[in-house]
Amino acid sequence: MEDEGVAEKRWNFKPNGVLAHAAKLPIKGTMQAIMRNLDGGDTRSTIALCQGDPPVSPCFRTTPIAVDAVVSALRSSEYNGYAPIAGILPARRAIAEYLSRDLPYKLSPDDVFLTVGCTQAINMAVSVIAHPGANILLPRPGYPYYEARAAFSGVEVRHFNLIPERNWEVDLDAVESLADENTAAMVLINPGNPCGNVFTYQHLAKVAETAKKLGILIIADEVYGHLTFGSNPFVPMGVFGSIVPVLTLGSISKRWLVPGWRCGWVVTNDPNGILKETKIVDGIKDYLVISSDPATFVQGAIPQILGSTREDFFNKTIDILRQTADICLERIKEIDCITYPCKPEGSMSFMVELDVSHLADILDDVDFCCKLAKEESVVILPGSSVGFKNWLRITFATEPSSLEEGLRRLKSFCQRLAKK
Ligand SMILES: *Cc1c(COP(=O)(O)O)cnc(C)c1O
Repeated sequence: MEDEGVAEKRWNFKPNGVLAHAAKLPIKGTMQAIMRNLDGGDTRSTIALCQGDPPVSPCFRTTPIAVDAVVSALRSSEYNGYAPIAGILPARRAIAEYLSRDLPYKLSPDDVFLTVGCTQAINMAVSVIAHPGANILLPRPGYPYYEARAAFSGVEVRHFNLIPERNWEVDLDAVESLADENTAAMVLINPGNPCGNVFTYQHLAKVAETAKKLGILIIADEVYGHLTFGSNPFVPMGVFGSIVPVLTLGSISKRWLVPGWRCGWVVTNDPNGILKETKIVDGIKDYLVISSDPATFVQGAIPQILGSTREDFFNKTIDILRQTADICLERIKEIDCITYPCKPEGSMSFMVELDVSHLADILDDVDFCCKLAKEESVVILPGSSVGFKNWLRITFATEPSSLEEGLRRLKSFCQRLAKK
């Protein structure tokens, strides 16, 4: 007994290995690896052209109307208790009305379920369809949180490509050949992250017909809804809800520039009641029983945030995004080893192609981004972390002056490494 030291003590617990696997997938993990290169002795300030937090830039401040809405909700003392599992009725009603403005039918508050940001909306959508053996079709390039959630829920992932030469439209032939009787859903992100594309009405109609033919539902991530500045207007997938059932995911994070407020939604766009019939709605309610919900006072502020925000706030954000996207395009044109297939028309980022064959001592996009961070203190996300090797994802939701400076450093880095 005496020599049974601590070293021999056996514990019955250990971490769930699936977590470690799933956690490697989201962008946050890759970013941390690249950030580690930043202490290379460069004394200049770090410029993050990766998915940052737009509100850190003074030009991406939310509207005082939203702030006042939260303050009065808090002051009222009406929202200090627990909320119903789907969220408080006034918030669900406000979201139903807000989204119905763009639809050919009216949503009811019963179609709306509040979530902790769009992140939990993704979590919910993937968890609900995760019956044993199920698979899901995800876009590539895409938003890796889907891969992570699918890995954690044991859902098999099959990727279809977005086609750069066709303004990042879905490769619908690939979708058809990937799907089988275990395919539950396909994910569509519009306006697109990471591509910055905006799908046309005609293309979305084709996607809807394809999904209907395959008998799958569409998970429409519209967290960037209405953040468009090109020729294609934003068309919500819910417009096609009578062709195919759609789960629309969204939040106030991006359009209102308040990702820290953690309030989002899952909405059933399903005038034919297929999601009720197939018990997906029951699955959503069951999920809500075992999960958490956004802070009640933020829910309390939702009707005023959605109902009273003025157009000029939205227009200002759009104007800045158009301006910063243009800065990117102009500066990228000056860099020989980087090209882009099409201009961004929405969201806050876009994809550019990197030609490493013209650069000395650069293996691939990851190597490029690590060295760029080390030598220039500029952080850009390598395309491989969103599924496209030797591409880069550039986020333009940044203060114009620091964007200019970051792109200047990117250019001089590429010039320095260019093969003679
Ligand atoms: C930012 C983002 C999310 C997460 O939104 P939150 O409301 O901040 O949780 C989901 N999907 C995409 C495509 C995003 O870019």
